[in-house]
Amino acid sequence: SDHQLEYPLSPSHMDWSKHYPAFFPADNQDSADARGKKKVEFADLGCGYGGLLVALSPLYPNTLMLGMEIRVKVEEYVYERIQALRKQNPKQYENISIIRMNAMKFLPNFFEKGQLSKLFFLFPDPHFKKKKHKARIISHGLLAEYAYILQEGGIIYTITDVRDLHDWMVKCLDEHPLFERISDEEAEKDPVVPYVRTATEEGKKVERNNGDKFLACYRRIKDEEEL
Ligand code: SAM
Repeated sequence: SDHQLEYPLSPSHMDWSKHYPAFFPADNQDSADARGKKKVEFADLGCGYGGLLVALSPLYPNTLMLGMEIRVKVEEYVYERIQALRKQNPKQYENISIIRMNAMKFLPNFFEKGQLSKLFFLFPDPHFKKKKHKARIISHGLLAEYAYILQEGGIIYTITDVRDLHDWMVKCLDEHPLFERISDEEAEKDPVVPYVRTATEEGKKVERNNGDKFLACYRRIKDEEEL
């Protein structure tokens, strides 16, 4: 249940300095400047145990990345994991953090329009039954929110071992006017894709079980009405 979760009134009400203290130096003369400028760019929705964040952190050391996870214990685990990594590796892992929240609610309270360049949906819960499809984290309604927080050219990465869920996500995204599928050929050249496949705990589990992995990546295209 998410009834006691707190949400900022708007993105400007969010204090990111607690999440990324190294990027928001309190005693720095330039801090007022820096504070306004540094923003989360990658979000991993339903990040689980945080494997993707940990893998991407050293690849994009100046990009702020946020995992969003609804389970209390899992959020606590990832928080401790990041604290330990920061302690053991000074000046590293400062750009990743985790927040406990229902990622299907209030995303525009956290992120401004066009703020994000990458959104990850890695091995999301399948919600097999037809009646439960509306609980899926990719749906027609939610895609409007994802399109809002993604910048033009920003990318949605989806991967799952469940064929039915893959088909569902592809259908929703294909039908949405603000997303276009990235060809498999182009996706394979994206340096992030190998981590999408293998860096997360669920991805590793699927590998151990020799399961399939269905990948689909989409680009946020220009909204003609925004012209
Ligand atoms: N992405 C991770 C991975 O690949 O290892 C975790 C995959 S796991 C099957 C799905 C995760 O999504 C779970 O940790 C679950 O708690 C989380 N989750 C499900 N619904 C969510 C929601 N509405 N908001 C945030 N997290 C959610």
